[in-house]
Amino acid sequence: MENETVSKNFIEQIIEKDLEEGHCETVHTRFPPEPNGYLHIGHAKSILLNYGLAQKYGGLFNMRFDDTNPTKERAEFVESIKADIKWLGADWGDRLFFASDYFGQMYEAAVKLIKKGKAYVSDLSAEQIREYRGTLKEAGKDDPGRERNVEENLKLFEEMKEGKYRDGEKVLRAKIDMASPNMNMRDPVIYRVAHMTHHNTGGTWCIYPMYDFAHPIEDAIEGITHSICTLEFEDHRPLYDWVVRELAYEKPPKQIEFAKLYLTNVVTGKRYIKKLVEDGIVDGWDDPRLVSIAALRRRGFTPESIKMFVDLCGISKSNSSVDYAMLEYCIREDLKLKRARVMAVLDPVKVIIDNYPEDKTEYFEVANNMENEALKTRQVPFTRELYIDREDFMEEPPKKYFRMFPGNEVRLMHAYFVKCESYTKDENGRVVEIHCTYDPASKGGNSPDGRKVKGTIHWVSAKYAKKATVRLYENIVDENLGVYNEDGSLNLNPNSLVTLDHCYVEPSLEKAAAYDSFQFVRQGYFCVDAKDSTSEAMVFNRIVSLKSSYKLPSVQ
Ligand code: ATP
Ligand code: MG
Repeated sequence: MENETVSKNFIEQIIEKDLEEGHCETVHTRFPPEPNGYLHIGHAKSILLNYGLAQKYGGLFNMRFDDTNPTKERAEFVESIKADIKWLGADWGDRLFFASDYFGQMYEAAVKLIKKGKAYVSDLSAEQIREYRGTLKEAGKDDPGRERNVEENLKLFEEMKEGKYRDGEKVLRAKIDMASPNMNMRDPVIYRVAHMTHHNTGGTWCIYPMYDFAHPIEDAIEGITHSICTLEFEDHRPLYDWVVRELAYEKPPKQIEFAKLYLTNVVTGKRYIKKLVEDGIVDGWDDPRLVSIAALRRRGFTPESIKMFVDLCGISKSNSSVDYAMLEYCIREDLKLKRARVMAVLDPVKVIIDNYPEDKTEYFEVANNMENEALKTRQVPFTRELYIDREDFMEEPPKKYFRMFPGNEVRLMHAYFVKCESYTKDENGRVVEIHCTYDPASKGGNSPDGRKVKGTIHWVSAKYAKKATVRLYENIVDENLGVYNEDGSLNLNPNSLVTLDHCYVEPSLEKAAAYDSFQFVRQGYFCVDAKDSTSEAMVFNRIVSLKSSYKLPSVQ
């Protein structure tokens, strides 16, 4: 997607100006997830943006776990987040950091503020602090702790650290402006007491810094030049700037906000996903119907398709929502030339070629991808008994149905012309066998004498095909009736997962491993499920169907 005429996004403009004016020499960005859950497609945007900027300007990219809140964080998420980011291709090299490693420096920073008369210990409860804060129309009321002298504040803060106080009994507040029109500046709490075990520092600390205080310090310590975050932090920027100014960092980092990525009709809220998992509606946070990075990977999306998607979305200052169809467009585009096109029969019915020798196996050499010779060829076995898809046969066809029906000749893809002679049904009226004759002169599927057939259908050899389970997916919520019910619960789509248990795939897929993907001719793109597929019982997930009415927006 490299294109010189693509205009620079506003973040790149800011960075280039900073470079030009000498505000920074080396661009230094970071991705700072809190290890409190899985990463989703929105995070992918932030990861690729930060990593991409460091790459583009020859700078540095830090992977930093923002693990300053022991109440919600778990070590298990650290590993899954690392795996997801690696998979996306954002390579942090040896630049892996944990905010919790800076607790000592954060404590010193708080002491520095106290010594400057810029922070004080408060005895108010959380509720009182809220009450005292005032409203948008009304200035706040001073905290009695505001008048404490430096010595007393130093002593009390140290006692907080030493565990003399219970959770919530005391907090440290920044002394800024109780009348500020920006509520974040009305003496925000910057340290609290929390007697908890931290996943990294264990029981070392019983006081923990608040996000708005910790984050600018983390950035400054690491030498981050451009601290990119999402729009909801815009009102927090004055506090960010206040912290780095009061602590007098030599090269203060700069916070820049951009709009979060939202997908239309797609559930990303952790609360909802947790409920879907708990209710057994999805089989974990990597269920292929979700848009966590792990789920997208399991569904068969590629890092390249996600990067293409994020690039197409662009970087913006206003919130908006992108259609899921655009993500589907990107994966189709990415896989089109990269993947083999193979034959799979999802709803099989048997075809018997009566004039074909019973014990014979013929192998046809088939191009893996007609548009990409580099993918080479493979051998596909052909035998007297085959499977075709049930929808490729009709007893009484309507007009313009060119596939198999009694008396009609069709091409078996890559193989022969065959003519349907008869069929048998079971007691329920279901077609069980279709009998055909083949024309040996049409080998390779080529017309021997210029006669034409209008239909070409795919097939697999009944003798050699591998049995498989195929899962078809739709949106997990019913987008036509609305995503939410009146009571706020999700309006689930009963067809979001359809499992086909009796499918057959070409024997060439036998060696396919987890995450390998293919185009199944006429059906879409499919990926070997990483959790449930085994070499005896293969399971494929449909990534996306082949066609869509989706049109890329022409103006970005
Ligand atoms: P969520 O609540 O959805 O998990 P978060 O903001 O709490 O999101 P963090 O782990 O705190 O998740 O965020 C890590 C980084 O990812 C932050 O810089 C955040 O701004 C960014 N981010 C989170 N969600 C999105 C999104 N939808 N689009 C773009 N960036 C996002
Ligand atoms: Mg968060």
